[in-house]
Amino acid sequence: MVISHLFEAIYMTQADKKGSGFFSRLVTGSSKKDTAANGAFHDAFLQLYVDAYVVVNTETNYITDFNNQMITLFALPSQTNLKDLQINQIMMRYLAEDSDNKDLMMNQVPDCWTGEAGFINYKKEKFYTSVHSNVFEKDDTKWQIISFRNITDKKNAEQELKSYRLNAEKAARAKARFLSSMSHELRTPLNGIIGTSNLVLLESNLPENIRRHMNILKYSSEHMLGIINDILDFSKIDAGKLELKKQSFNLNDCLTNVIEAFEVQFNEKGLPFIFSLPPELSKVHISSDEIKLSQILNNLLSNALKFTTAGNVTFKAGIESCDEKNTVISFSVSDTGIGIPEEKQSEIFQGFAQVYTDDNSRKFGGTGLGLTISEKLVAKFGGELKVESEPGEGSRFYFSVSFENALPKEAKPKVQHEPGFEHITDTHGLRILVVEDNAINATILISFLRRWGVLVKEAENGIHALELIRFHKFDLILMDLEMPQMDGYQTIKKIRETDHKTPVLAFTASLLEDMESLITEAGFNDYVLKPYKPAELKKKILDYAPHRKIDYV
Ligand code: ADP
Repeated sequence: MVISHLFEAIYMTQADKKGSGFFSRLVTGSSKKDTAANGAFHDAFLQLYVDAYVVVNTETNYITDFNNQMITLFALPSQTNLKDLQINQIMMRYLAEDSDNKDLMMNQVPDCWTGEAGFINYKKEKFYTSVHSNVFEKDDTKWQIISFRNITDKKNAEQELKSYRLNAEKAARAKARFLSSMSHELRTPLNGIIGTSNLVLLESNLPENIRRHMNILKYSSEHMLGIINDILDFSKIDAGKLELKKQSFNLNDCLTNVIEAFEVQFNEKGLPFIFSLPPELSKVHISSDEIKLSQILNNLLSNALKFTTAGNVTFKAGIESCDEKNTVISFSVSDTGIGIPEEKQSEIFQGFAQVYTDDNSRKFGGTGLGLTISEKLVAKFGGELKVESEPGEGSRFYFSVSFENALPKEAKPKVQHEPGFEHITDTHGLRILVVEDNAINATILISFLRRWGVLVKEAENGIHALELIRFHKFDLILMDLEMPQMDGYQTIKKIRETDHKTPVLAFTASLLEDMESLITEAGFNDYVLKPYKPAELKKKILDYAPHRKIDYV
């Protein structure tokens, strides 16, 4: 733009045709001496100017002037005289095939224009330019000045950056795909391990040593499942895909569930667990994500349990403030455990960070993901997870969240029954179709169902299931989503063409964020996540099964 401004300045003055170069011919001064000096100055200036330029007579299209940078930029032989050429010839010879604005530049560079173009120079090397064009009129002739600024380095850097970004995006997608399929692949055999250990533990006359070993197996496999879930959560947070669900729930009920689950573990360790929930909490109904809130508190409490050997662990929740719309609740988990040195206190919120990375970490176990996930989750809730700690004294993790108030949730049955039918409390005599291709998973599931007095029929894929449905009546269908030949989605579609009543629950090992909507949109009533706890499965069956006693066909 400097050139065009300079030209404007030149154009504003009166031309003196006796100047030495093109510019000097356009420049006037108060005397011939001044004019010549001015012209020479401008010619020298433009020859030294960093950008290459040409001046074109717009009537003939011939180049009437150019500077040395044109020769350098296009790597032309030093004696080349561009004044013998038309501007279009330059464009035709040197413009790159894939140049931006190619058609426009080939035809005619617009009068007042800025854009980018790529060229192949005389030595067949590619370079990029930023092009500026401006026109001025002099002696009834329109002149166009086109300048070219070499932006090859910037362009190459941009392209490098773009390819890095594309590669990084590709790698992030591959990582997300890998984690999701790995977690699915790991959850499926884990379902077999957890299911089998649960089944064996149900045996009443199990020798004590076998029961102990089975409990270790069960505990270890559930622990492994927790790690897989953590890794999956971490990757979701990393990819910005973790969203909170909003559902009305009672805060006191939610916190009591968390506390009850931990009371057993604190008792087993012989560590006092003190908790205080003010009675007003039972009146607090909020609209938020109950599962994720429980997940944060579970993480903090399991750390307190893990890192404390003597003293106690205290859990507190209290109402900080409350208005018509929101209730602010404070949470805190304190322990009298090993504590965290000050310089490590910010590190523990970073992925995979552990304070003790020597033998101690192996002693305590863990992946170093719990606090990272908790901190990100608290931030999603709009709060900030903070820590106060003294090595050897203990730690306190605390945060406050402003929750949206909600009306108490109406306890309505999952399935509306026809008049004369009532909700069942027992699975005996229920006719259930199990559609599952994995033989191990099917065996475990059927063993549980039979123990609960269910009358089971089995299909190994959707096609087989549809055949059975044609000839038998079922109270409920449990169907795996991932199956060969005809998967769960295709099968439910077929079933719902004629039958809108029979409850169908999907079985899946995939933890997709939008699982719930995917499942219900497909026509399922609900889903059971593998690996499942037998009691949870039974509760889901009872929630959905209608009470009908017809002899099994
Ligand atoms: P993990 O417990 O799986 O290692 P976390 O992210 O939950 O991962 O915790 C990271 C680290 O922070 C732990 O390894 C431990 O060193 C430290 N830490 C967390 N909570 C406590 C606590 N209550 N007391 C002492 N150290 C803790």
